[in-house]
Amino acid sequence: MVRNLFIKKSSKISKIGILYVCTGKYHLFWDEFYLSANRFFCKNSEVHYFVYTEHPINTYANEFVHHIYQEKLGWPYDTLKRFHLFLEKRQTLESMDYLFFFNANMEFKKEIRESEILPETKSNGLVSVLHSGFFEHKHIPPFEDNEKSVAYVKSNRKLDYFQGCLSGGRTKEYLAMAEEIKKMVEVDLSNSIIGKWWDESYMNKYFITHPPKALPPSFAYPQGGKIILPVKILMFEKSNFGGHDFLRS
Ligand code: UDP
Repeated sequence: MVRNLFIKKSSKISKIGILYVCTGKYHLFWDEFYLSANRFFCKNSEVHYFVYTEHPINTYANEFVHHIYQEKLGWPYDTLKRFHLFLEKRQTLESMDYLFFFNANMEFKKEIRESEILPETKSNGLVSVLHSGFFEHKHIPPFEDNEKSVAYVKSNRKLDYFQGCLSGGRTKEYLAMAEEIKKMVEVDLSNSIIGKWWDESYMNKYFITHPPKALPPSFAYPQGGKIILPVKILMFEKSNFGGHDFLRS
């Protein structure tokens, strides 16, 4: 377990930090996630895994798997406050060139090269994945509709809507986003408001003014989905693991 981790900056290859939260029952997804990421994700980089959980985990004797002790906060704070958790380890995470959050129930199915997933040099440095339910712009995306929330967006079909399960980018820009989202969440909580899709509502609000590189839903393909796209990252259907309520309890 790592409390104050110091990781040296090296100039050779990029360091990518994967942010992986698996408190409570979500730790059951760790092994498949790790083994598939280790096989397929950004093979030309030094990939570190920051694993937030209260459970012991198999580090697979990989010195770049860093266990960060984190107890379950209780639903929906386990997801809503993920950016709070990242900022608590800001100093450690700043030793990475890029940071990427993935939902726990994801498995890599195909090689993902740096050129596909990292932000372009001349960009605002952020990356996310288009939500598979809305990327064809057939339906109105579920932006926050409570006008009292700081996440409120007047939705329309043309707007891109991103899925909270994957977000990343250059470390500086990603942590700047984390700061902003943390502030938004705090403002809403002080007014007894929680975004309807939790962290995803605040992230989508932030992306209105900071549009990310938009990955296709291949990078968050819902298991059993009927979208005609290759599967790069599969999102396990939670009903095969006891369902949302069971997993979140
Ligand atoms: N999560 C967690 N422990 C919990 C609940 C959620 O670690 O008890 C984290 C985990 O990374 C999970 C993410 O929060 O993938 C999002 O939660 P969930 O998958 O339930 O929400 P959804 O993505 O289906 O909206």
